[in-house]
Amino acid sequence: MPYDLHTHSTASDGTTSPAEVVRAAALAGLRGIALTDHDTGSGLSEALAEGARVGIEVLSGVEISTTTNGRSVHLLGYGDITGHELLAPLLAGTVDSREHRLRSIVERLAQDVPGLDLANVLARVPAGATPGRPHIADELVALGVVPDRDAAFVHHLAEDGPYYVRYRAPRTDTVVGVVAAAGGVAVLAHPGSRSGADVLDDEELERLVGVGLGGLEVEHRDHDQPTRDRLRRLAQRHDLLATGASDFHGAGKSNRLGENTTPAEVFTELRARCRAVTG
Ligand code: AMP
Ligand code: ZN
Ligand code: FE
Ligand code: FE
Repeated sequence: MPYDLHTHSTASDGTTSPAEVVRAAALAGLRGIALTDHDTGSGLSEALAEGARVGIEVLSGVEISTTTNGRSVHLLGYGDITGHELLAPLLAGTVDSREHRLRSIVERLAQDVPGLDLANVLARVPAGATPGRPHIADELVALGVVPDRDAAFVHHLAEDGPYYVRYRAPRTDTVVGVVAAAGGVAVLAHPGSRSGADVLDDEELERLVGVGLGGLEVEHRDHDQPTRDRLRRLAQRHDLLATGASDFHGAGKSNRLGENTTPAEVFTELRARCRAVTG
């Protein structure tokens, strides 16, 4: 039975609670998951407790927003690292910037979308959760402006659309080093998707390996088969772990838990490489 090492809950922009993600994983026949909410570990204690209760393995994780050459790059950090003295302030800075950016996007949108109210958007972000565009999408759905989250990302929330505002995030190489120093393992998330493509020129990848990168997420719905083959070869060449995962977001996206997975032997190796583990 395999593992799903990239999932989101209501601690960021997923729609199911951490405990619900774990229960759904057990129902899906997975042996274990990593909960990897955006820029926060606030859902981890609930997920770890539920994993112990229902008898599946839960590995602590976080999907860290980073930047390389002005482009957004997502980095999965595994292990009990989100409270580390070097990583915690980086995550807090990103969440703070995301909060300001949420307000800016809503202000811009409100000029064209009647009834869009910041207080109603903020009410959709649970306490301790990392805010993101999907929270704005949900309010646009509630107002009847768009039918679902996906539709909101076509125009209103599109990166190349008129309302988009960026948020600040630390450099990818800095974060890779910090995750390694914290005793975790850093894995590039969906490195072959549009937003990750740039970082994977050979020079950048080698630099990241040099500062402690531990793996590449190979099996992911954003990767076609040639991309998966290319990433797997890269992982082998650089002695990186090759993982797979669903990037589950509950009802917010069509990704199904376990649609892509990591084999048990890779999970065992990943866990062994984490010096910092809880659960
Ligand atoms: P943000 O982190 O605020 O920039 O928003 C990006 C998040 O929105 C990612 O975690 C995605 O999972 C989610 N997202 C991106 N595109 C879409 C889409 N077309 N439909 C639903 N969610 C999306
Ligand atoms: Zn997300
Ligand atoms: Fe991502
Ligand atoms: Fe994700």
